[in-house]
Amino acid sequence: MKFSQLATYLDELEITASRNELVRILSELFQKVSVEEIAPVTYLIQGRLTPFFDPTEIGMGEKLVLTAIANAYHIDKGEVAVKYSHLGDLGLVVEELGQKTRDSGLSVTEVAGRLLAIAGTSGDGAIENKLTLFGDLLKELDPASAKHLVRIPVGKMRLGIGDPTVLDALSFAKQGDKSLRPVLEAAYNRTSDLGLIALTFWKDGVKGVEKLQITVGRPVRPELAERLPNPEAVIKKLGLVGVQPKYDGFRVQIHKDGAKVAIYSRNLENMSLMFPELITATKRDIKVGTAILDGEAIAYNPDTEEYLPFQETTKRRRKYGIDELAAKLPLRAFIFDILYVEGRDVTPLTYEERLKLVEETIRGSEILLPAPLIKTDSVEVLTKELLDNISKGLEGVVVKRLEAPYTAGGRNFNWVKLKRHTSGELTDTVDLVLLGYYFGKGKRTAFGAGGLLAGVYDQDKDEFVSITKIGTGLTDEEWREIHRRGDALQSDSKPARVNSILTPSVWMKPEIVVEVMADEITRSPVHTAGQFDDNPGYALRFPRIVSFRGGDKSPEDATSVKEIMAMYQGQGQHRVAP
Ligand code: ATP
Repeated sequence: MKFSQLATYLDELEITASRNELVRILSELFQKVSVEEIAPVTYLIQGRLTPFFDPTEIGMGEKLVLTAIANAYHIDKGEVAVKYSHLGDLGLVVEELGQKTRDSGLSVTEVAGRLLAIAGTSGDGAIENKLTLFGDLLKELDPASAKHLVRIPVGKMRLGIGDPTVLDALSFAKQGDKSLRPVLEAAYNRTSDLGLIALTFWKDGVKGVEKLQITVGRPVRPELAERLPNPEAVIKKLGLVGVQPKYDGFRVQIHKDGAKVAIYSRNLENMSLMFPELITATKRDIKVGTAILDGEAIAYNPDTEEYLPFQETTKRRRKYGIDELAAKLPLRAFIFDILYVEGRDVTPLTYEERLKLVEETIRGSEILLPAPLIKTDSVEVLTKELLDNISKGLEGVVVKRLEAPYTAGGRNFNWVKLKRHTSGELTDTVDLVLLGYYFGKGKRTAFGAGGLLAGVYDQDKDEFVSITKIGTGLTDEEWREIHRRGDALQSDSKPARVNSILTPSVWMKPEIVVEVMADEITRSPVHTAGQFDDNPGYALRFPRIVSFRGGDKSPEDATSVKEIMAMYQGQGQHRVAP
């Protein structure tokens, strides 16, 4: 396939807001690509060259791309910058500047290969090389192709295609319906690599996809916890359970492959640079050749047995000065699971068996510590554990079904979280995605936002659906912050994958995730969360923002419609007041 053909599809996808249409167009595109092309195309439509967890970056920010454009079209850099300030998108700038360029018929694989080569340049003269290589590529592409090309390095591929949409489209392309999505999704949960799945599917069919295994070096989509309102409900539903502290830190998935160690976050990003002491400890203390461990990293002082609050742990989320911070505020990782050891996938084992393996694997380490577990079928004991952990400054407990396997990417009652809460309120906060804002009246007008339209994620449909308007809980500074970040995310029309009856003054591309507390979930005809046929949707009563989720959650990690429905069912049952 020629890159220019792909660009035509990208143009079509860009103006499509309907999810079904996105799937249809994508599946038509997939049907036209060969075995060699399917992996690069799968990455490119999401603006990438490699899977999300791979840290490969082209390494050209806006400034460098702008210089490459000026060089390629022999135009003054200042002129390009002026055009950019008018058009607000470097893609549109090259589309205009490249009008006279003839397409030289480059194929998709060639363009992907050349971008990978640019990503691979390093060392002395790397910048010059990147500029030349990227400029050369631009000179060979027609305006529409060049438009999409420049959006890749600057992270502005504006298609908004989520992973479930890609999985549906792959199924449609081969099967004519979405019946293969569960098989593809299960493989995605084990490998997190859409390109690999697509390639295997094209090459070896469904059988090949089913054989894709968990392996060290590819993050596994983490198991997540369900909610229940109180210890009574937990024991009633699960009987004998294992109970562990719920640490409020960073989820870490540690991969050890001989001397190579990598750490992935909850949303599958490679975070190895953030945790030097965990990397060192894994290399030094873990004697097995290969392993995948699952745990929570938290700032912890073993002498005083003090856990530091989440805000302290999150200071790690930065690029510089990590070593100093690691010395001042060393982290520990409480390991609560193991997925793979010595070449073997151990996710089918029971939780008890896996926890025993955890203890054997990390024995002797003072940095990687096994999460303690007590077993009980008593409401009193569970209540006491919950209150004990809260008094130690932890979030609560996670209750686990002892005989359950590890469900990659699953949220079910094999794990249940119980947290601190105030009686009468929802037991938990929810994570919402901002969809737009309303112009404010009075004081807030100065900051450009008076209220926010927020939504949750519908996993089945890969859509963001509205659940509430939020007006309170933000300081003036935070309103400014929303305004600043929101400006870059503004969209002239309803963004792709957003489904809403309400129309805010300004739409925002769904990217910012906020943690919200509310009093109650109610039914509402004006919100689309959980709405179907004539049934009303769900809404939040008295929502207020508790915090901005700083990057550890992508919009697809926001609370799901399914969770909201379960929380709605759970309301009204009595809760323990710590
Ligand atoms: P929250 O915002 O409540 O942490 P979440 O959406 O990030 O929720 P949940 O699935 O709701 O994730 O809660 C499980 C999270 O709790 C895990 O992702 C993990 O980071 C953390 N956690 C802390 N201690 C444990 C433990 N002992 N076992 C499992 N998960 C734990």
